[in-house]
Amino acid sequence: IRERNSTNGITAPVSLAQSFCRELSTQTGRLEGKVALITGAASGIGKAAAAKFISSGAKVVIADIQHQLGRATANELGPNATFIPCDVTKESDISDAVDFTISKHKQLDVMYNNAGVPCYTPPSIVDLDLAVFDRVMGINVRGVLAGIKHGSRVMIPRGTGSILCTGSVTGMMGGLAQHTYSVSKSAVIGIVKSMAAELCQHGIRINCISPFAVPTPFTLDEMSKIYPHINTEQLVKMIHKFGVLGKATLEPSDVADAAVYLASDDAKYVSGHNLVVDGGFTSFKRLEFPSPDKAQ
Ligand code: NAD
Repeated sequence: IRERNSTNGITAPVSLAQSFCRELSTQTGRLEGKVALITGAASGIGKAAAAKFISSGAKVVIADIQHQLGRATANELGPNATFIPCDVTKESDISDAVDFTISKHKQLDVMYNNAGVPCYTPPSIVDLDLAVFDRVMGINVRGVLAGIKHGSRVMIPRGTGSILCTGSVTGMMGGLAQHTYSVSKSAVIGIVKSMAAELCQHGIRINCISPFAVPTPFTLDEMSKIYPHINTEQLVKMIHKFGVLGKATLEPSDVADAAVYLASDDAKYVSGHNLVVDGGFTSFKRLEFPSPDKAQ
């Protein structure tokens, strides 16, 4: 395939993949007419997803435990965003958020279970605080299950829908986070596979997105506990430096792009998948060979 440069008129060869990606990136309205409910969308990844969903043509309900921030986010995102207070640990709040979405927009096409909390506890299993474990599992796992339950409740009768859940690379590999958080994210990845087996019979897709470290209030708060003397700008740089993909840095909007894809009809045959957004981090461990003069 050759593409013409619009300024100088010269044509140059491009790969099929490059041409396809350019085509996709110039498309607008990939979520035209769709309605999404996103938990934990007052800030961070959820907010970035809400913004991208709206710019792709969707209407979005933001469900979050932070009322003031959630309202401010909805105002910032404009008339296609609405806020509803919601604590995902309360099943009635999730159920109400789903019912509110239906009463306002008459349908729910995308249920995005994104709310989650980090967990800073002593690193050893022998010091594990089971009360903290229960609290984190209540939000990161039970909250996701409740979202899937009530999203499915309204999607099954329509025979269509897309459910997204936020996992993490820390649920795929040990040693990247505290046990409690890692375990909670492993569970999310497992939940998606288990639910896909049932929901496929109803035409509902369910997928997980597992990001690498992204600078959001979530990671910045945790990092500032470990490095109280380092300012936010430097912490953001530290988080970016954990990445492995050359000079590219992972931002909330990159995770939001993955969510737009999975929510859209471009992913109409993708279900039970864990879309890892990590620049390749979990795919390899590069061996550092000693130089020949230092080898024994
Ligand atoms: P964030 O703190 O910016 O956003 C999390 C949101 O969840 C907040 O708005 C918060 O108010 C909300 N929330 C917390 N508890 C809630 C509850 N009980 N009910 C409803 N809402 C609640 O952080 P983020 O990084 O955008 O995190 C979003 C998701 O991404 C989380 O599930 C997190 O585990 C996951 N994640 C984050 C990273 C990262 O590096 N930031 C990496 C992988 C996965």
